[in-house]
Amino acid sequence: MAAPLSAVRFLAALQAEGVRVVEVGNWRTHNRNSRGPWGPVHGILIHHTVTSGTDATVRICRDGYTELPGPLCHGVIAKSGRVYLVGYGRANHAGGGDPRVLQQVTDESYGTSPSRPTKGNLDGTDGNCHFYGFECENRGDGKDPWPEVQLDAIERVAAALCRAHDWGAKSTIGHLEWSKDKIDPTGFTMPAMRARVAKRLAGKPGTPTPEEDDVSLTPQQAQQLAEIHRERAIAPWTYKGTAETRDAYAYLRDTSAAIRSVDAKVTALKAIDLTDAQIAALAEKVASAPGLAATIAEAVAQKIADRLAE
Ligand SMILES: [Zn+2]
Repeated sequence: MAAPLSAVRFLAALQAEGVRVVEVGNWRTHNRNSRGPWGPVHGILIHHTVTSGTDATVRICRDGYTELPGPLCHGVIAKSGRVYLVGYGRANHAGGGDPRVLQQVTDESYGTSPSRPTKGNLDGTDGNCHFYGFECENRGDGKDPWPEVQLDAIERVAAALCRAHDWGAKSTIGHLEWSKDKIDPTGFTMPAMRARVAKRLAGKPGTPTPEEDDVSLTPQQAQQLAEIHRERAIAPWTYKGTAETRDAYAYLRDTSAAIRSVDAKVTALKAIDLTDAQIAALAEKVASAPGLAATIAEAVAQKIADRLAE
């Protein structure tokens, strides 16, 4: 018998495990508690959404739809690895499921997987009161990829709640293991995910993994990019033997050289077969160089002001 965590403890447990949490609206009090019990809790249920696009997915999971009012889970695990908290309390995610599975999960008494469920939505036990629920953004067609940051977030979410309740990894199951009507999640296996959770639980709560880059460069490209970044920095310049270390002409000269060099590097990068997405990302990085033009303009203005003041 485990009482559900308070919303505050739930949030703290996720954050302590390194989950990148996004709180959506009044998630702490958005629930279906008026329609039935919440708790005792016995485990964590993992789903896929059959949607694409994080904004739309989060909205649907928060609001639900006419036949099934929201929240449809507690948290949405997006492809970015961020976890959007949309509700807390009883939520419409588990539906009916197999009471034998519930017992095995409660006791953590199964082997690799619980017994195959023989009950579902219409003839099963109410799972909405017994499970924390997480919807993972995925089309659920078996082809839509599961980014490693998203799998990492699933692992952390499950481990966070298992740790908070002193449960083992077997308290985490997929919807397909709960209900005979369901196939989610599709695209990774729950035994593999439980192995990850178990490994994590054996250690200490972790720090967040870095966010996945939109582009992946080869080592050669990464080195070239690093050189471009280095050369963007404007070199100090000793002006005519005085104590000044920078002046307008030096800035212009160095900047002109840096731009020529960047041009050459970008041309070289193009020649080694970058994808359009990589070129776009590079262009954006170069364009957002912190204040190259502004630095020049400021330095010129300052120099003119100094000269006028003399
Ligand atoms: Zn589901």
